[in-house]
Amino acid sequence: MNELVERLYSTGDLADDELKQLIESDTAENLAEYADEVRQKYYGKNVFLRGLIEISSYCKNDCYYCGIRRSNKSAERYRLDYHAVMHSAKIGRKLGLRTFVLQGGEDATFSNDNYLCMLIHDLKSNFPDCAITLSLGERSYESYKRLKEAGADRYLLRHESADRELYYRLHPHGMSFENRKQCLYNLKELGYQVGAGFMVGAPYQTTENIISDIRFMQELQPQMIGIGPFIPHNDTPFRDEKGGTLELTLRLLGILRLIFPKVLLPATTALGSISPIGRTLGLQTGCNVIMPNISPEDARKKYMLYNNKLISGSETAEGISILQKEIESAGYFVAKERGDCII
Ligand code: SAH
Repeated sequence: MNELVERLYSTGDLADDELKQLIESDTAENLAEYADEVRQKYYGKNVFLRGLIEISSYCKNDCYYCGIRRSNKSAERYRLDYHAVMHSAKIGRKLGLRTFVLQGGEDATFSNDNYLCMLIHDLKSNFPDCAITLSLGERSYESYKRLKEAGADRYLLRHESADRELYYRLHPHGMSFENRKQCLYNLKELGYQVGAGFMVGAPYQTTENIISDIRFMQELQPQMIGIGPFIPHNDTPFRDEKGGTLELTLRLLGILRLIFPKVLLPATTALGSISPIGRTLGLQTGCNVIMPNISPEDARKKYMLYNNKLISGSETAEGISILQKEIESAGYFVAKERGDCII
């Protein structure tokens, strides 16, 4: 297995059957070491922090895995108003953050772009040295265009699965597999730095499905790749399914770093939620981004995508300093820069 890792490291790719072997093996001891070498070659020991602001838990979609799906009647819904978002960003900037990620469900009240445009515009003028990332799901080409013109820099939209069959086992038929992928191409065309990705160990996911995800991303060439373990949520149809494992998530992170040497790769909240050392191990296996949650505490509790989501506060100086220590004891440091992708 170590030979496959070496070849992936030196050539940046493997045949499908070789990738399958590597993904399914538990003997690739040298993977983290090579992934870390590649990450350090391009990004040194920098870890970029992104301040996550969860702006709404209303969602018109009904993804089978997600705790804020429309059909979950027990989910408490909230929407941050203009002042709450600006306030979170102001606190985040004081803590040294240089990117704000506005994430949320597909809230129908955002379907008119005006509010979002105003928010983006005002964030950019108040914090001109910061990047604005959006993660608000599928929108029309025109809407993405307006948001870009208002000042948005990046967009995170996990493709969720590049395999049609798996996609429709995770999403109701009212959603469109084609449209989700098209959105990513539209975002790229409009000049956004884009992030794709998927959940590791989602119900029904096979190794072949994961290879399709990798092939899709090789075609798309996203600037960011977000992967994290699937974690069941009690109030969803997947409540009794098994979650994704730490081991498989780490192995995939290492493999992704070798295939996409320059990509921005977050050690996700989901990874930190399944193990107290998940994010540390992620950083040591090729990750170079962490997204501390700076939403108001009340919102953080309601934005429950899965059970036991890590909700420790990062919106305080103390929270950030704990995170900084976690990063430093893993052997890295918090970057001062905005952390744009070098692709
Ligand atoms: N509505 C936005 C943001 C979604 S939340 C969008 O459509 O892009 C961000 C990500 O959380 C999702 O893309 C999904 O991959 C992940 N997620 C949702 N439910 C999850 C669960 N139960 N376990 C792990 N990750 C989950």
